[in-house]
Amino acid sequence: MYKAIIIGTGPAGLTAAIYLARANLNPLIIEGPQPGGQLTTTTEVENFPGFPDGIMGPELMDNMRKQAERFGAEFRTGWVNSVDTSKRPFTLVVEGHGELQTESLILSTGASAKYLGIPGEQENIGRGVSTCATCDGFFFRNKKIIVVGGGDSAMEEAHFLTRFASEVVLVHRRSELRASRIMQDRARNNAKITWSLNHTPLEVLAGERGVTGLKVRNNESGEDEIIATDGIFIAIGHTPNTKFLQDQLPTDEQGYLLVKPGTTETGIPGIFACGDVQDTRYKQAISAAGTGCMAALDCERYLEAAEDAAATVTA
Ligand code: NAP
Repeated sequence: MYKAIIIGTGPAGLTAAIYLARANLNPLIIEGPQPGGQLTTTTEVENFPGFPDGIMGPELMDNMRKQAERFGAEFRTGWVNSVDTSKRPFTLVVEGHGELQTESLILSTGASAKYLGIPGEQENIGRGVSTCATCDGFFFRNKKIIVVGGGDSAMEEAHFLTRFASEVVLVHRRSELRASRIMQDRARNNAKITWSLNHTPLEVLAGERGVTGLKVRNNESGEDEIIATDGIFIAIGHTPNTKFLQDQLPTDEQGYLLVKPGTTETGIPGIFACGDVQDTRYKQAISAAGTGCMAALDCERYLEAAEDAAATVTA
């Protein structure tokens, strides 16, 4: 049995791992299908303190992992199929590892990219539809591509994709962008980006060799239009990865885990949440790392209190 299991290896999970490992609690960290989390799909991280010249996302995550390993954190790769929080110790069923038991649990499973839910989208993932510019941008050298969304992610992806593409059309359903001023300005100053604001995506069009266009509704004229393209990058936000918990913990209506304000405590003592899985507001690597530290400290205190209580009963 483990004293602490951490699910997820983004900045939150790995920071929690560093703290728990340094506290000699020998945490087990379970890595999912995207080890390192969202930062492994980004390029340069310019706003993580301590790196005046920036650092590549994957390198930053690799460093965090090595730091956790240095203090004795154990890693296993596998999909967590279920967690039983109804009795102690908590039991996890992990693909390839069977049942694992733990006294405490830190949830740092992050969030996954959202899709538009329009016809033609799912069947063309990998055939021109993508949610990861850093992963797939290279395939669109000298091609015309579309980025959908009006937030910081869309601005960032559009700007990044101009390294490869001949033209990037930014399609957004409203005339106002949600993105921060600095990100908007960067995109607006990029001559390779053209704008289709106030256009709602309706359908991904494809031929035998993949995506050929995006059907959109011009919300001003009410007319449908087709924008010819070789690739469509969807950058419309994320969904928290909490499905595997099967409603055992309190969440908001979108599925983000709820924590007691100012702590990482979920509705069940001994289970803590950190990073994007509980963050609807900041969603930054540095704030995820910060809550990872908080979760580890909350977890240490919980384990200490449980040990004290057990010692009192025995005495
Ligand atoms: P976001 O801020 O939630 O923006 C999502 C965008 O997608 C919105 O413009 C939204 O349109 C649009 N959208 C959502 N669902 C849609 C649908 N079904 N069809 C069409 N459009 C849809 O998400 P985000 O851009 O991923 O950013 C999330 C957080 O991460 C933010 O706090 C952001 O600041 C942060 N972030 C920061 C950086 C950075 O600083 N380098 C980079 C990326 C992200 P509406 O505007 O009409 O709702």
